[in-house]
Amino acid sequence: MRGRSIAKVVIILMAAVLVFPWLTSAKEQVSAKKKETMGQVLVGKTIHHPPIDSGREAAQSPAAEGPTLVEAPRSDEQSRLQAEKPRSVESVIDTQLLYKRLAAGDRTGGMEDVHIGTAAYAEPEQPTVYLTFDDGPSRWTPDVLDILREEHVPATFFVLGQAAEARADIVHRMVEEGHAIGNHTYNHKYEELYTSFAGFWEQVERTDRILTRLTGQSIRLLRAPGGTYTNFDAFYFYYLERAGYMVHDWTVDSGDSKRIGVPAEEIVRNVKQAKLTHEVNVLLHDSAGHEATVKALPAIIRYYKEQGYRFAVLSERVKPVSFRIGSLKWSRQMSEAEHLAALELTRQLDSMRHQTLVAQAEAATARYAVAAEQQRLQGWIPLREWAASMGASVYWDGPAKTARLQAGSEQLELRTASGTAAWDNNREHKRPEVQVAYRFEQDHLYVKRQDAERLWAMKDTGTFAYQIGGLIE
Ligand SMILES: [Zn+2]
Repeated sequence: MRGRSIAKVVIILMAAVLVFPWLTSAKEQVSAKKKETMGQVLVGKTIHHPPIDSGREAAQSPAAEGPTLVEAPRSDEQSRLQAEKPRSVESVIDTQLLYKRLAAGDRTGGMEDVHIGTAAYAEPEQPTVYLTFDDGPSRWTPDVLDILREEHVPATFFVLGQAAEARADIVHRMVEEGHAIGNHTYNHKYEELYTSFAGFWEQVERTDRILTRLTGQSIRLLRAPGGTYTNFDAFYFYYLERAGYMVHDWTVDSGDSKRIGVPAEEIVRNVKQAKLTHEVNVLLHDSAGHEATVKALPAIIRYYKEQGYRFAVLSERVKPVSFRIGSLKWSRQMSEAEHLAALELTRQLDSMRHQTLVAQAEAATARYAVAAEQQRLQGWIPLREWAASMGASVYWDGPAKTARLQAGSEQLELRTASGTAAWDNNREHKRPEVQVAYRFEQDHLYVKRQDAERLWAMKDTGTFAYQIGGLIE
């Protein structure tokens, strides 16, 4: 009698354990797991957050030693919606007042929400590192790309228009392999860039035309040669942001261009000595003379992987980090006439781009919605949508025709070429490979819902066996 009721309890408990994962939403499990992973990272390291000020406060704060990081003014859902409508800033604000505010060092010009464009920032859940390579492409860039491909790590390349023109094939490869491209001006010559905004703008536009032609994308990422500190004033920030650019400085300087011939060991050491913040933006160079950076790269990637960081490209979703405005190295003056001319120049580009982008996005969204609905009726689900609902991110490795889904510390590889998939957490033994049906529809990858659910259940196999084993004991 007693034996039977114990058996009953065991059966009920086992059933509860088996059913439990399907009772709680899978998303909750993922975020719980993610928090665990983050917790491990946070416990081991004291994470210092740099003092964050709004652009305006930073502009008014007295000069301290070295560049201090500030974040660009926050853009929220409301400003995104405002941005949906074509903007005509001139009709709303007094250009003279704007001139005075910018001249006083207020980089928002008092218009915090208006000039940020369509950005909708989202802070990543997991600690994230953005590797950035400036001044390329050069003969060393293919080596950098090889390492990134081997490590399954995406990066952002702030290229020079001049170098991109000369090595168009490398720019194509960057795009194909899932990296992001940013504008780093045409020739990097400080005297041409920082003696007048017109000079800077001319190079930005020229590079923009080259990059649009080479990548088929509208490039919105921009990095100032030498960084913004002591080079940019409020006028530069305002016009560029208004033209739709996201100006990124960095949080970690690898020091690979401090002088000629910095050895790889020193570059790695600089990176490891830098503060670990939740989002890290690392400055590296892939131009001529930077073979030591190539040599240092595997150790840098290994370091961030060990610290529990995920790698991502800079995008519209990433809030730009920029240095505060310091006293300029340059003795330029912005006249009111130049100010009006700059407003006109940047307005044209902005509204043109804005209209194109909104139209393209709307058309693509509509096409996708129709296609996805048809697929759903046949039991297919879009991989990205499914991953997002599970709190996971997806990285598409074009050359390997493989989607990599990152869920906490575990990675699911979906190999479309062989029609298989398997979990791999890079530590323990590999999980068994299973057959999965894939389908591409308008550049979107679909999987069968039952396959997706089966794969997700396999992720928890280890935990499962342990729980049942413990109960039977
Ligand atoms: Zn540079």
